[in-house]
Amino acid sequence: MESEDSHKGDYEFVGMALQPAISITVSQENLKGGGKMVSGTTNRECVLGMDLGGTKIAVAAVDASGEILSEGNFPSPSQDGEEMVKTFKALIGQECGKYLESGLRVRAVGIAAAGYILQKEGILMEAPNIAWRNAPLRKIAAEVTGLPVVLDNDANGAAAGERFVGATRGVDNSVYLTLGTGVGGGVYVDGKLLRGHRGMAGELGHIVIDPNGPLCGCGNRGCLEAFASGTALGNEGAGLARKNPDTVLLRMADGDPEAIDGRMVAEAVRQGDSVALRVLKIWSGHLGLGIVSLIHIFDPEMVVLGGGVSNSGDLFIDDVRRTVSQRGIPALVEGIPIVLSESRGEAGVIGAAALAWEEIGGPPPA
Ligand SMILES: [Zn+2]
Repeated sequence: MESEDSHKGDYEFVGMALQPAISITVSQENLKGGGKMVSGTTNRECVLGMDLGGTKIAVAAVDASGEILSEGNFPSPSQDGEEMVKTFKALIGQECGKYLESGLRVRAVGIAAAGYILQKEGILMEAPNIAWRNAPLRKIAAEVTGLPVVLDNDANGAAAGERFVGATRGVDNSVYLTLGTGVGGGVYVDGKLLRGHRGMAGELGHIVIDPNGPLCGCGNRGCLEAFASGTALGNEGAGLARKNPDTVLLRMADGDPEAIDGRMVAEAVRQGDSVALRVLKIWSGHLGLGIVSLIHIFDPEMVVLGGGVSNSGDLFIDDVRRTVSQRGIPALVEGIPIVLSESRGEAGVIGAAALAWEEIGGPPPA
């Protein structure tokens, strides 16, 4: 058994001088979390899926059919790099041990995290919410468990989850977009997740659709993410609300345009507000333009929209489809279904588990 600090020097902790560490201690109490185990699982094969987030770490045992056999949510000491390493190791060991004890046969581990990931090396380069850079998560998890481990970004996880239990089951060529705080993407080509040279392919949110567009979080201007994320929907709402003070949007935000978010725009559209409707149409048009390029590049069989904003998909999906058919090359875009995700909400652990099953050649046939 190696010491807790054996990985020191392999990676760096960041932000600790700038941000106060959240005082979460890795006690047995914390690790126990809110777990539950389905009974009658003896001898069933499963994988461990872990969704590594800035506020919580979700872990689940998922069988070959996508059923969650055991799950738990644990606080994420994301601002304290050293605690993060300890918690990560302890959780993986503890949960795997628990599954084995209850008779499950754990085959592989899948970890999904937001951020830039060198997928082929199994390294989390940097994550917006985790004070841990160049973290060799795959190596650590493999040493703790002795199992095959795959690490990938959360959007690829969501795309894998969709193919595992959602709209793209049995679909070998697809484009998946997560519409949330940002815009993430995952692309399947000929039945395989597109990974690229270092495993960083599929950053679909950062294709530029207007060189003079708004600033993007990546530092560039006019990326799809700066136009078609949930954040962008709120910003667009704020802009039009300033010029049209009689909109329901301003009332929802107590008169402060800055407080308008994407959810308020959707709600105001449901209430019949014409300003909000205009905002959503502009936003859908931009999303449609991005999808046109993606269809031209990847020739998918299906395009799937997931992420938080897709919960309001009934309000904008027809406009997106219209833009795609008006602006795309007919021979390429005609007849390509653009649909909403069917695995909304559970994409995190299910996606990570789907990545794990893929890593070992897919779940065994039912
Ligand atoms: Zn960008």
